[in-house]
This record gives sequence, C-alpha cells and structure tokens, in this order.
Amino acid sequence: MKLLALPAFSDNYIWLLHDKGRAVVVDPGQAQPVLDALEREHLQLEAILITHHHADHVGGVQSLREQTAAKVYGPERETMPEPLARLHAGDGVQALGLEFRVIDVPGHTAGHIAYFCAAPAGLDPILFCGDTLFSGGCGRLFEGTPEQMLASLDALAALPPATQVCCAHEYTLSNLKFARAVEPGNADLTRYIAHCEDLRSRNVPTLPSHISLELQINPFLRTRVPAVIAAAERIDPSARGPSGHLAALRQWKNQF
Ligand code: ZN
Ligand code: FE
Repeated sequence: MKLLALPAFSDNYIWLLHDKGRAVVVDPGQAQPVLDALEREHLQLEAILITHHHADHVGGVQSLREQTAAKVYGPERETMPEPLARLHAGDGVQALGLEFRVIDVPGHTAGHIAYFCAAPAGLDPILFCGDTLFSGGCGRLFEGTPEQMLASLDALAALPPATQVCCAHEYTLSNLKFARAVEPGNADLTRYIAHCEDLRSRNVPTLPSHISLELQINPFLRTRVPAVIAAAERIDPSARGPSGHLAALRQWKNQF
C-alpha cells in the first residue's frame, strides 16, 4: 500500500493510494497528473473520491471517467459531474479491499464530506479531508457557519492521533505564520515551523500531517485553549464560546 501526493495547479495535491496495481484518487482537479502517475506506476484506477464541488477538486473527473474504468463517489448534496454514487455520513466506499468511511464536514461548502480509512495495510490510518482541515488551518467558510465548521473539526480531531491528514492544498507555511500570531508562546508550533520551512526549501510536501500534531499547533483545533481564547477575544471582544472564538480567528485569518 502506497500513498502519494500528486501536485496539481499551483498548490493543490491530488492524493493517490495504491496497492497491487490498483489505485484510488481523491479530488482530481486535473486529469493529467493522475494519468501520468497511473502510467508511471502501472496502475488501474478503481475509484475517484470527491470531497466537495469546487472546480479545483472535480475538474479532472470527466476526463478520468472517459479514460479509465473508475467508479466515482461524491457528496449527496452538491452539484457534481454526473453520474456518481452519492454518499452521506456513515456510508462506506469499498475499494482496494479497504473501507473508506464517510464523515460529514460542512463549513467550507454545505455538503463537504471527508473519507477515513482505519486500517490501510502497513500504513497508519488515513483521512482525506479536502478543504476542511489544513495543516495549521482550516478552509474558508464559503457556505457554512462557524458552528458547523467547529462540529466538523471536532469530528476530525476525535480520529485516532496517528491518523495521517491528507489535505488538498499546500497552505501550511502561510497557515503557520498566522498560527504564530495567535500563539507566539507555543513551542511545538515554533519547532514545526522550522521543520516545514526546511521541507518547503527542498520543495518537499509538508503533508500528510497527523491528528496528534494538528492538536498541538492548529489554532482552529485549539479554540478551547486559554491562549487561543485570549487571542480571539483581543480581535473580537464580543466573541464567546468555541464557535465564537473560531469565527473570530477565521475573520482575522481572512485579513491576515
Ligand atoms: Zn474548496
Ligand atoms: Fe480547494
């Protein structure tokens, strides 16, 4: 079993998981990076998993459908390149002999879903979370409320600590710059920034991250930590409760 991050556009990753000559891809915004990888690794595409409707996540689906035998899966409530199998919370996709369990994570878009694979042979658990959770950050609230995003992030934070977090964008360094402004005294964060700066200077992806790490450094998963609450209330003195603090952080980040 192997997990690859295929670069697409300027900062997207299309995640590809493969085993015994068969592959699954997640959010193929472009077809060509996937076709190149299938040819290079001699793989047959078995399934395409989609997290949400944005063009940088679905743009390559029709072309891949025409050129492979892949079955397409996506969220129940979003406009998608048809036909596809529609999924909602608790559904499971069977592919590569594995189960990918669907988690509802509204907030970035109204119907956004994530896929969790508990036991990929020889690898730690894997989460494909689209634009909901990023390393050091979270997606913009285009279609959802802070309450929804908080519940979505709480559901992801409750996954096993060793879970590999496969985000759809390389936003880590800019997220961490913001995280440092929120929590200048967080030593884990300072260490992680140095690590990620080194990776990016060598053009290596900072992903996948891990749930255990995100709990230490991601302000959007730390809305119940006193230092984060204090920072959120400096920006918006009227902010109350974890969703109010998350809303204040998200507003601040939008202008950061
Ligand atoms: Zn998006
Ligand atoms: Fe995106």
